[in-house]
Amino acid sequence: MAGRDIEPESGTVYLVGSGPGDPELLTVKAKRLLERADVVLHDKLPGPEIIELLPADRREDVGKRAGGERTPQSAINERLVELASEGKSVVRLKGGDSFVFGRGGEEAQYLAAHEIPFEVVPAVTSAIAAPAVAGIPVTHRDHASSVSFVTGHEDPTKDESAVDWAALAATGGTIVVLMGVGRLPDYTAALREAGMDPETPVALVERGTWPGQQVATGTLETIVDVRDEEGIEPPAVTVIGDVAGTRESVVDFLRNDSTGAVDAPEDR
Ligand code: SAH
Repeated sequence: MAGRDIEPESGTVYLVGSGPGDPELLTVKAKRLLERADVVLHDKLPGPEIIELLPADRREDVGKRAGGERTPQSAINERLVELASEGKSVVRLKGGDSFVFGRGGEEAQYLAAHEIPFEVVPAVTSAIAAPAVAGIPVTHRDHASSVSFVTGHEDPTKDESAVDWAALAATGGTIVVLMGVGRLPDYTAALREAGMDPETPVALVERGTWPGQQVATGTLETIVDVRDEEGIEPPAVTVIGDVAGTRESVVDFLRNDSTGAVDAPEDR
């Protein structure tokens, strides 16, 4: 497929989502911009396979500083403005979609405030893709008519928590939690306290579409133990709802694990 054969504009920032990590899930547009931009600012979330594709002399890892600390968002914002002001074409590459828990919105506002032209390049979010490659549709005619994407980063017990877990429990729809490995015990408890059935199926999908993708399943009651037994670590999404139970009916024929082979029975 030819695509639009155009060079990235100088002095412009492209806010590009990488998709969940499989290089084949980059959009055609993202791939073209990555190949041709003067510089690519990225962190670790696009995953090892996509980061490996980036030309070493034209990329800057803004995920971590030398001491292992996160680069503050303000420093990334300033760097984007600096590079664009020098006349460079700049790709700001984020895991998944930049505008889904990706701070892409903040970057867009900062660029606009500094009169830097920018383009948003939407992508496949891990919130949908990670469940999908585990065989879990986030909606299903028989099981869920709505889906909510929420951050698990917050303490559900704090009064001013921005996530209303009780309201989410009441929707009866699927809940997909991002950044929710650490606080899994807190929000699964909050959902049970809000009256959600403890038998509700829950799945954890770690490193969806990356080498080493891992899927673990349980219920609202058991999933914390499952997490610990299976050693699930970030980045992972938590899928809560009856749709998570449908994995069982498709997994024998699902070829989405990282090796392209069917899961060994003991891994299920
Ligand atoms: N903008 C991203 C989300 C960034 S927040 C997107 O649209 O996907 C970071 C969280 O994203 C992680 O904590 C994890 O919950 C999730 N995540 C990102 N990539 C993932 C992947 N390949 N597999 C599972 N979860 C992933």
